[in-house]
Amino acid sequence: MAIASVNPATGEVLKTFEALTPEQIEAKIAKAHATFSTYRLLPYSKRAAWMNKTAELLEAEKQELGRIMTLEMGKPLKAAVAEAAKCATACRYYAENTERLMADEIVQTSAKRSFVKYQPIGPVLAIMPWNFPFWQVFRFVAPALMAGNVGLLKHASNVPQCALAIEDILRRAGFPEGVFQTLLIGAKAVDAILSDSRIMAATLTGSEGAGIEVGVSAAKQIKKVVLELGGSDPFIVMPSANLETAVATAVTARVQNNGQSCIAAKRFIVHEAIADSFTEKFVAKMAGLKIGDPMDDATELGPLSTPSGVTDLERDLKASVDAGARVLTGGAVIKRPGNFFAPTVITDIPKESPAYKEEFFGPVASVFRVKNIDEAIAIANDSRFGLGASVWTNEPAEQERFIRDIEAGMVYVNKMVASDPRLPFGGVKQSGHGRELGVHGLHEFLNIKTVWVE
Ligand code: NAP
Repeated sequence: MAIASVNPATGEVLKTFEALTPEQIEAKIAKAHATFSTYRLLPYSKRAAWMNKTAELLEAEKQELGRIMTLEMGKPLKAAVAEAAKCATACRYYAENTERLMADEIVQTSAKRSFVKYQPIGPVLAIMPWNFPFWQVFRFVAPALMAGNVGLLKHASNVPQCALAIEDILRRAGFPEGVFQTLLIGAKAVDAILSDSRIMAATLTGSEGAGIEVGVSAAKQIKKVVLELGGSDPFIVMPSANLETAVATAVTARVQNNGQSCIAAKRFIVHEAIADSFTEKFVAKMAGLKIGDPMDDATELGPLSTPSGVTDLERDLKASVDAGARVLTGGAVIKRPGNFFAPTVITDIPKESPAYKEEFFGPVASVFRVKNIDEAIAIANDSRFGLGASVWTNEPAEQERFIRDIEAGMVYVNKMVASDPRLPFGGVKQSGHGRELGVHGLHEFLNIKTVWVE
């Protein structure tokens, strides 16, 4: 796929880029490797000063950075500006806390002194998707760079200007040149880079297919890889929930980022006692969303990022309807320039249909009706994915059941799933393995060194 910025709201090609040559890639790997040998030895305070400066730049320039995101991948501008600001919070959190989170851990043994020492491992390749083009990168960059690692970014081919802007900000914040470098390359170049002995590990956020291929490449070299892959998150509503709040949040949780979020709620599992009322309100709100130019502040739902996103969604929705699913609102592409898809709600979803089994990466919500909590949990878990889950109930016993029995990396009670710089983020099952953020995310790319002094 060519490396290009194409406005998803209009289809206009804004800018194209040449992929790096093998010689240019080699020079960047060599630079990362050489930089690591000195960067790893710097005091935390030095790295924290650059990371705090990065936060300042992100905040000062969030409007312009938001515009780049919206132009390249179509998310509403307000959300794009908020994304740049959220990156600043991650920078500040890791600037302030990494030294504490990486402190030696004393373990009492028969040794004179025994402890665990956390050390950076070296250049890490980050392969990132376009859907949160800044946040996905910063949730890797903030902990990794503070820990003393250096990063190479292979960003999605449709957000090259975001990738270059991130490199530019980190450079202007003061980080030495080889600490973070953008590689403008296609997916095919990744295997050779992972085969290079100077690259120590990789992190990929993206689809299952990419996860399998990158996982295999890393395995051939016995390299660690963190995989943050797809999700088909359940959003379960029980009778004791505050229905108005649950419905309003359900809409936001489904259409955030124009429906293209791994942790978007995708399967709405509703107790039969409130199912009619929930569905009626939910359909009305979905149908009433303001669709339009993502640069317009009033827009609630913009275009999908790529034309192939539209065709994939259309194909899976049609197959689900052909199998017996019923459309309550929407159900089709919107005929206007750009990649617009109508907000859609379906129900009566057959078990063998894509709506039951696959991840819908766009504004299509699947509603399931259940008799009790057992059935709700059974449907929630009847998925190969296990990223997040949002459960709505004010019954303490039900809350505990969901927390204990839902197969997911994250369970949010009476709140939509969202990432937080302080908490680990990641999934189980086919949603991937490893964590980003929090102490667990920080430790993914560290050598956990055992030290025994006699
Ligand atoms: P994708 O096609 O897998 O692309 C993601 C990144 O992987 C891009 O940089 C892409 O490069 C690269 N890539 C693709 N195939 C590759 C391969 N065979 N080898 C090496 N690199 C490869 O993902 P997408 O479909 O654009 O993004 C949406 C998916 O990401 C959804 O499934 C979503 O749920 C998931 N996601 C997960 C999380 C999470 O935290 N769990 C967060 C956001 C998104 P090119 O652009 O050059 O192809």
